[in-house]
Amino acid sequence: MTDAALVWEDALAGYRFRPGHPLDPRRLALTVALIRRLELAGDASRPVIAPRPATEAELLLAHSSEYVAAVKRLSVAGVRAAEGAAWGLGDEDTPIVEGMHAMASAVAGATLTAAQVVMGGRVRRAFSPAGGLHHAHRSRASGFCVYNDLAVAIRWMRREHGVRVLYVDYDAHHGDGVQAIFYDDPEVLTLSFHESGLYLFPTTGFVDEMGAGDGYGYSVNVPLEPGTEDDSWRAAFFDLVPAVAEAFRPDVIVLQNGCDGHVLDPLAHLRATTGLFEDFVRLVGEVADRWCEGRVVATGGGGYAIHAVVPRAWTLVWGALCGDPAPDRIPDDWLEAVRRESGEAVPAVLRDPPGAFPSVPERAEIEATNARTVRDVQRRVLPLLTGWGLAF
Ligand SMILES: [Zn+2]
Repeated sequence: MTDAALVWEDALAGYRFRPGHPLDPRRLALTVALIRRLELAGDASRPVIAPRPATEAELLLAHSSEYVAAVKRLSVAGVRAAEGAAWGLGDEDTPIVEGMHAMASAVAGATLTAAQVVMGGRVRRAFSPAGGLHHAHRSRASGFCVYNDLAVAIRWMRREHGVRVLYVDYDAHHGDGVQAIFYDDPEVLTLSFHESGLYLFPTTGFVDEMGAGDGYGYSVNVPLEPGTEDDSWRAAFFDLVPAVAEAFRPDVIVLQNGCDGHVLDPLAHLRATTGLFEDFVRLVGEVADRWCEGRVVATGGGGYAIHAVVPRAWTLVWGALCGDPAPDRIPDDWLEAVRRESGEAVPAVLRDPPGAFPSVPERAEIEATNARTVRDVQRRVLPLLTGWGLAF
């Protein structure tokens, strides 16, 4: 077992837009409740650490002062909501709500706290399940995300510790905000696996988005076909993450664990099972042990099957971060309470059993297309990172 911290306090469940909005904070409370029920956190080697909100100066590491000022203005009751449009606020996805500056600052502070305890040497891994708001841009909210906690934490680690950061994102949606903020920065390599932008928000994340200026080659995108299942996605991830890390030699890995690539997720069309996410985290841990003295700063992200998937997926993520896989069986009392609350059939085990979901008829075609995409990424990116570019 390795030392890992869970960064959490109940107030983080205050990041919410309105009833019925897909980003429902109950998914976080359910996750932490399941982790606690399984007694996987709260002891000396797996502490639960209460975060503090990010300060305005810390938000400015990733956001413009004009944007932060606008979010603050729009966070009070009775504002003229029309002003929000210029800042990406006030649409269906990211509505204007009273107190949003405070709630988004709390989430940014949680991921920043995770970065600080890892870089301070207090633990090797930290998990901030409330974080992972990867769509927020420097001066624009987008896709449920007001402040980009990941970018704030990465910039802080760059400034305070001068580290090279490998950012890995397997949320079903492209990590566009993080990519854009570091697009010309060769010290931060962003690597995103997601459903192709041809079919899904935010419609970006294609192989040819490779960075700009000095950062050319340091934005890596792996767009996957709708219907992608575990084996094909695992092959892509396992082919690329160790190779990119070996070429880039990061000092720390920041890992966005959006679990909306699960087959039951209502917002995307990928077909992962929960065990795949556990495999991803285990591999990232091994890569971090090889190159980064074990340092991983992990966050949550998307995940909209809030009862049937998110708590199971992120409990597995947490167990893998701890190097101590969570037991498969979910306690009856937890299941009973969640089934009663949701009226849904929640699986009784953390790992979806083999054959739990039927395979798609287009499986061979999807696998072939994804394999071609991986080869394309390898051919374009690895030579740039290893300095072999001229030989190609
Ligand atoms: Zn997502």
